[in-house]
Amino acid sequence: MTEAEPERDVVVVGAGPAGLSAAVFLARAGFDTLVVEDGDSILRRNAHLENYLGFPAGVNSRLLLEMALEQLERSGGEHVERTVDGVEEVEEGFLVSTDEGDVSAEYLVLACWADASLFDDLDVDLRDAGSKTYLDSDDGRTSVDGLYVAGRIAGQPHQTVVNAGHGAEAALSLIHDSDTPFYHDWVAPEGYFTDRGRDVPPGCEEIDEEERLERERESVEVMQEYFREPHDSTPTPHPSQRES
Ligand SMILES: Cc1cc2nc3c(=O)[nH]c(=O)nc-3n(C[C@H](O)[C@H](O)[C@H](O)COP(=O)(O)OP(=O)(O)OC[C@H]3O[C@@H](n4cnc5c(N)ncnc54)[C@H](O)[C@@H]3O)c2cc1C
Repeated sequence: MTEAEPERDVVVVGAGPAGLSAAVFLARAGFDTLVVEDGDSILRRNAHLENYLGFPAGVNSRLLLEMALEQLERSGGEHVERTVDGVEEVEEGFLVSTDEGDVSAEYLVLACWADASLFDDLDVDLRDAGSKTYLDSDDGRTSVDGLYVAGRIAGQPHQTVVNAGHGAEAALSLIHDSDTPFYHDWVAPEGYFTDRGRDVPPGCEEIDEEERLERERESVEVMQEYFREPHDSTPTPHPSQRES
């Protein structure tokens, strides 16, 4: 047991669609968010992602992950590549053990493989489904206070957009449970709330036309840079097809 203040508000284990989506929502809500992952999202095995909303002709899935990582950084979150080999509940939250040291956090979001050995030290409800073990959850909440799960580890369907959505859902559950003032993560045009005599609700932002155009200009520049050339990556093979 440690009595020290946790180093982070939240650690998210996993940087696939579920973990990154959860982390973006948490960082934007003001949580000091660290994503820890070992660089092996199963989405990297995809050849061409054609059912993720918003890309009419599909998108390179590794490029999608790269863009999501930049989105995390722009949202104020951090990301490190490390292998997590254990997680345990401690007095002030959670301790995440990695191959390069431990990190503590008040809240923990697991969005990694359904690897039951990681949960040995957690008193959490598990669900066996054939060869897989999932963490039982409800809107991303588990039976352990402060512990949330998102994506495949929660037994979500094996589709990218579903897992990204589940990451967002788990993050919203955490934000609400933490009593952080929050309504929605919305960017609204100037006056949308205030012209109706309402304060801008917590989590929301009103921006004027000049700011809207500036943000759109920047988003176009960033996307043009990403899509200037085909992405320099090929699908990661299945583990059984990798050279040892
Ligand atoms: C060949 C193939 C093609 C696919 N094609 C499509 C498709 O066309 N459309 C579609 O919708 N879906 C597709 N999918 C499914 C999609 O990839 C998954 O549904 C999605 O990636 C699951 O998201 P996730 O965030 O839950 O898990 P993952 O994306 O697997 O992310 C898990 C994260 O946890 C990390 N991690 C795991 N264990 C540890 C550890 N011990 N320590 C640190 N980090 C850890 C990993 O590095 C990774 O960052 C495909 C999958 C495969 C295999």
